[in-house]
Amino acid sequence: MTPISSRFFISTNHFQMYLCYIDESGTPQIPGNTSHYILAGITIPIGKWKSCEQDINRIKNTYKLTNAEIHTGWLLRNYTEQNKIRNFNSLDYNTRIYEVNKYRNVDLLKLQKSKNRWLYKQTKKNYSQTKNYIHLAHHERMSFVEEIAKTIGNWNFARLFAECIDKIHFNPAKSNLSIDEQTFEQIVSRFERFLKVIDHVHPTYGMLIHDNNETVAKKHTELMKNFHKSGTFWTSIENIIETPLFVNSQLTSMIQIADVCAYSLRRYLENRNEKLFDHIFKRADRKDGIAVGVRHFTNFYCDCKICKAHKLQA
Ligand SMILES: [Zn+2]
Repeated sequence: MTPISSRFFISTNHFQMYLCYIDESGTPQIPGNTSHYILAGITIPIGKWKSCEQDINRIKNTYKLTNAEIHTGWLLRNYTEQNKIRNFNSLDYNTRIYEVNKYRNVDLLKLQKSKNRWLYKQTKKNYSQTKNYIHLAHHERMSFVEEIAKTIGNWNFARLFAECIDKIHFNPAKSNLSIDEQTFEQIVSRFERFLKVIDHVHPTYGMLIHDNNETVAKKHTELMKNFHKSGTFWTSIENIIETPLFVNSQLTSMIQIADVCAYSLRRYLENRNEKLFDHIFKRADRKDGIAVGVRHFTNFYCDCKICKAHKLQA
């Protein structure tokens, strides 16, 4: 039998653990087809994992998206065929699905007969990526993502880290790093600093969890190994453990939440769309009122909400 004193010893020496889910929005290539590239990480203490999953699943169930992945970019597109179906908004879900699929099948058959293979392939991909969302009209899909963003905003235990690069102002020669490397190093450094502050009071560790992507997996694993060995440019790594874990975003709700965060930041920076951003940005890691966790890498004179909140110290 364990003596009372040693049981007491064990219970007072437990440590805290944070999971940080990472995802990207936009393309890191220059120029690519987006003006910004964002890498975002949202961290929660492991004790909150279950309730976060339940929060997300509750909203998914309301919109009949129980088994669907939240892929914000695809969710919020305009599905033109929905506009062509008469009284689409007044139809029930099953009829909407039937009507949209009917339209899409006819369209694909037509494209298959045409000589434009590229358009056929592209359209087929678009239809496949959005097939789980076609029972919802655009305004309903928007409400769904807004509810998710609002929920994230209310998780006062969660912290957001992000590096948002305006590619026009990024000079790889000057920074000695690629866009992708810089964003990853920044996220790792900010997450580590966040953990160090808590660790000062209570032993705390953190782990990075990524959407699975073969190229990124290899690169970030190598980078992380080097950070463990020699630190990042900004900090030594003591509280983040292991190399990132790579998971299937289709099966893991929390990685989909990182997608919502990255998307919301990019939509704000590229289109000044504040609807989702204002919820998400509440969770930016802050120190003495300054949003240290989220940075917009751009020209010095930018007066966006991120720059204003990040530059208060200047
Ligand atoms: Zn800015």
